[in-house]
Amino acid sequence: MADPLIALRQLRIIYNQGRSNEVRALEETNLDIYREEYIIVYGPSGCGKSTLLYSIAGLQRPTYGNVWVDGKNLASFTRREEAEFHQSKIGMIFQAFYLIPSLSVIDNVCLPKTFRGESPEIRRKDGLALLRRFGIAEQMDKFPSQLSGGQKQRVAIARALINNPEIILADEPVGNLDSESAQNVLDILKELNEVDKKTILMVTHNAEHLLYADRIIAMKDGRIEKETVQKEKRAPSARSFTPVAVDDTISPELRILMGSFRSLSSDQLNVLLIPFKAKQLLAHTLSHLTEEQLAMAESFLKEYLFSNIDENQFTSKLDIDIDKGGAGWNKKQAKSFTLRIESLIREAKNIAEHPEEAHTPLCQYLERELDLKLSETSRSRLESLLKLRIENQVTRTEMLKRLDSSLALGGIGLYRNTAERVVREIEIIMLLKYA
Ligand code: ADP
Ligand code: MG
Repeated sequence: MADPLIALRQLRIIYNQGRSNEVRALEETNLDIYREEYIIVYGPSGCGKSTLLYSIAGLQRPTYGNVWVDGKNLASFTRREEAEFHQSKIGMIFQAFYLIPSLSVIDNVCLPKTFRGESPEIRRKDGLALLRRFGIAEQMDKFPSQLSGGQKQRVAIARALINNPEIILADEPVGNLDSESAQNVLDILKELNEVDKKTILMVTHNAEHLLYADRIIAMKDGRIEKETVQKEKRAPSARSFTPVAVDDTISPELRILMGSFRSLSSDQLNVLLIPFKAKQLLAHTLSHLTEEQLAMAESFLKEYLFSNIDENQFTSKLDIDIDKGGAGWNKKQAKSFTLRIESLIREAKNIAEHPEEAHTPLCQYLERELDLKLSETSRSRLESLLKLRIENQVTRTEMLKRLDSSLALGGIGLYRNTAERVVREIEIIMLLKYA
């Protein structure tokens, strides 16, 4: 009865095709993976394990052949469907964790959840429940740089689970961990498979991990060399998978093409982050509009952040009536909102391009934008604090504390709610910077 959850059909991946540095990373591969299976992909370094995994994640486009997940051909996805797929169908875990250094633990975990339109309170509640489950709730306000490797990987697992995806893809998830932390992560993956019924694909080159798998896929030189079933989970009547027609008309720029998968490129991350950015920006800058006006504005803001439309188009879409497909704002709101977004983006760009010197203009920006009245001492302390924040050396909580402590106690002496506005403004800029 059961169709495979994941089906690779004549999949081939060639890097730098036709060039002198061409690499045939994956030879023609056919593979079916069934619901609730725990698959381990095993083989020596360079045999194509990560390439296989990333093609299932939709992070690596096939050179030939197709990848089907839950009956859908990944090549047919629009850019937005692809982002949605990453956010909610698949949870990924990497050897290098890929936590976002400028976000706190809890914000890293909740990041993929912002697609769902849930309130921040519910989001945080779910995130916190996962952190508790993995024994790291106390670290929620810290930044990734303040955690041990094992803690970082547990945060990354919590992030992978936040949207309750059906599939977990783990690329050498314990490759960077000491043996105790590694055991802990392996136990978590096993539990996710057995208790939470997740379908898991884990890549490893360590033979000691193999006992965890229902099925072992051994790879060599870009091919599946051998398959070993340790526990049969495929329905006995599993029939072969019949792909439906492929839509080859999709324009290549709609696919998120990612060059190197040793690490996620900034572009990849940027694409994954845009819906989150759009939502945060709106929540940050507006609170007086109807839900419908906000929902439309959010979708236009995503288009703008994706650079599908320019700032003039963005402003006019905000201004057009709802029944004509716009966001139903008025001209003045639309214009001032666009200017506000542009100035946040400008600050973020400046930090990204001149991280060493950005604290001074950022301080001026905050003074101007939030109408702060600072003494010389406060200003120089704020500049130092901003410098630390840009270097990811202070948490949100520490920042807040320094901003609202009195000058006599070495603080910056802001009122509590001004301090909170400053922190929110800084955090949104740091988020936008991440690209
Ligand atoms: P594994 O994960 O098993 O170590 P990979 O899938 O990372 O193997 O790599 C398979 C082959 O493809 C290797 O020869 C590797 O050097 C090459 N390769 C991987 N990524 C790229 C890339 N982005 N560009 C060119 N070659 C690559
Ligand atoms: Mg690899």
